[in-house]
Amino acid sequence: MQERVPEQGILKTSAVTPLQVEVPAEGYHKGLISCQVACPVHTDARGYVRAIAEGRFHEAYLIARGPNPFASICGRVCGAPCESACRRGKVPRVDDDGAFLGTDRPVAIRALKRFVCEQYGPEARGAEVVLREVRNFLPPVAAEAEEMAALIRAAMSGRVRPANGERVAIIGAGPAGLSAAHDLALLGCRPVVFETEPVAAGMLAVGVPAYRLPREVIAREVEVIRALGVEIRCGVTVGRDISFEQVRREHAAVILAVGAKSSRSLGLPGEWGPGVFGGVDFLRAVSLGETVPAGREVVVIGGGNVAYDVARTVLRQIAYDTARTAARLPGTAAVRLVSLESLEEMPADTIEIIEGDEEGIERYNGWGPVAIERDGEGRVTGVRFRKCLRVYDEQRRFAPVFDPERQLTLPCDTVMLAVGQSPKVDFLATGGADIEMGRPGWPKADPRTLQTSAPGVFVAGDLAHGTRLLIDAVASGKAAARSVYRFLTGRELMAEQVTVPLVEHFYRRERGYESLRRVAPRTAHPFERLRDPRALVELAYSEEEAVREASRCLDCSVTPVFDGARCVLCGGCADVCPTQCLKLVPLAELLPSAELEAAISGALGEADLEGDSAILKDEDRCIRCAACAMRCPVDAITMERVTFRTEWRSQ
Ligand SMILES: Cc1cc2nc3c(=O)[nH]c(=O)nc-3n(C[C@H](O)[C@H](O)[C@H](O)COP(=O)(O)OP(=O)(O)OC[C@H]3O[C@@H](n4cnc5c(N)ncnc54)[C@H](O)[C@@H]3O)c2cc1C
Repeated sequence: MQERVPEQGILKTSAVTPLQVEVPAEGYHKGLISCQVACPVHTDARGYVRAIAEGRFHEAYLIARGPNPFASICGRVCGAPCESACRRGKVPRVDDDGAFLGTDRPVAIRALKRFVCEQYGPEARGAEVVLREVRNFLPPVAAEAEEMAALIRAAMSGRVRPANGERVAIIGAGPAGLSAAHDLALLGCRPVVFETEPVAAGMLAVGVPAYRLPREVIAREVEVIRALGVEIRCGVTVGRDISFEQVRREHAAVILAVGAKSSRSLGLPGEWGPGVFGGVDFLRAVSLGETVPAGREVVVIGGGNVAYDVARTVLRQIAYDTARTAARLPGTAAVRLVSLESLEEMPADTIEIIEGDEEGIERYNGWGPVAIERDGEGRVTGVRFRKCLRVYDEQRRFAPVFDPERQLTLPCDTVMLAVGQSPKVDFLATGGADIEMGRPGWPKADPRTLQTSAPGVFVAGDLAHGTRLLIDAVASGKAAARSVYRFLTGRELMAEQVTVPLVEHFYRRERGYESLRRVAPRTAHPFERLRDPRALVELAYSEEEAVREASRCLDCSVTPVFDGARCVLCGGCADVCPTQCLKLVPLAELLPSAELEAAISGALGEADLEGDSAILKDEDRCIRCAACAMRCPVDAITMERVTFRTEWRSQ
């Protein structure tokens, strides 16, 4: 049961359909902060979005930075699971006659994060300032903030006893490796990161194109991690420049965070030879300023975000090389993206598809490659495809069905494959024989501790969980750091989630917030985008736009709480509710369940099923307007805020 419920005789229920109810249990309201719950590092997105709405920009930055060493980068390119979970995107929109117009759109949380990072992040003020500030990040601001500050406070107060400066090797300076290094430095270890590339940040630096993520932002964010005392050795390949055995010998523990950098192949006839490139190999070469012998008629095979990064980068290269500035490249050049999936099923984000279309990428949906065709001299001349009738079976398993009769040949001189990546762990041959493998190429590890079969060797990031989002890699790196601390010190690092309840006596929302439409981040004109491969596509919010967008947040940490002992069952709350999320229903109409019976007996003692009623609340509809609380004639409804944060201690 949720706090206060049985003791004070309140009966609160939330319903998906009127009669099948869910009784709020312990932690129920915490779970309603869906953006924070969905974020793999549990960033208090609601906290910083509300801070922006109220003009507290600096505080908003600190909240966003708290658990996430890559806040500025996330502000630009995070896959933003918080937005997919945002409850504003589930609220039904109705016209004046109550007709359903579809659901609202989520708050643009990622773009709002960018807005505050650009003013207060390391890209604006340098590494030392940010670090000093985050280190001194003490209450009252910290009440809403998260882990990093919490860890520092815990160390300062002696609740977490630091490690003894043990050297920990991390192989791979991607977001997983650097996040692990960041937290290990805070926990009293001496992390040393080995990175084969000349730059740190992994796929963020050698995968994500500069038109989405400026290199300066990456460099500044990495600088903060260096400033914590992390040593990053770029240009060192483990397995070639130093054996894995030596790395293990010289360090007390090792984290493997080498990502999944190799482009998968398709095994097509004609695939091996000149003119065919792995998509991520191409992006890497472009990022590092290497010459790429891509032609002028390019076919990109793949339908995901990486395929779009590849296709849009090729387009920019062609436009740049030929100094063309027209958005649609006429005649002699073409970039064609061919996806097995239909437009509706394509895994790429909708915004990528729209922007790719705007820039002139020719999209072919529903075609599967059969062969890469070459002329007598081995030059690529085209790709043959067959029609794909269906990609997934009824159980949503990948099981494509083709029509062999319907074929299409796209002429081209270059083919780019963007059909997934896999890890490269051949360095394990130089001292990792005791590391058991799971599926081929992927070390086996305990999913909770991330420890491999070899003592003191851990995994993190894409290598641990397969290719996912940048923020998943950050979360995984942090988890690996905690396991290493436990391994080295023998002390358990305990994370306690502290819930802070607060009655909001003067709670009011911005006028008209419920009808504000999403302020989508503006984008540069396609013509401008193709002028320079580094020209940013997405433009920053102005202050006015940011505040307006942030004030659309429903502030899910606040919720009306009903006091059943005071309620006189007048139904005024349900009458005044603008989204009709409240319903007064006789107990007899509810589907019986053990939880419901416990709640009823806790609230009422003896229940009169015919005479007593319950207030049902549809959480998807509640917009936290407080109209119910204002209307209640007997003050039976209060607006209560529940926030949670992590506190650390070791034992
Ligand atoms: C093209 C592309 C675009 C993406 N865009 C987004 C996006 O917009 N938003 C998002 O959320 N996610 C995005 N992702 C996913 C995200 O980049 C990854 O999930 C994340 O980078 C994984 O982090 P990681 O640290 O596990 O691995 P990586 O980032 O791959 O880092 C691993 C590092 O290990 C190094 N390494 C490998 N072997 C060795 C060795 N033997 N010795 C030394 N160093 C070694 C590599 O050089 C690399 O730097 C994208 C991925 C790609 C490929």
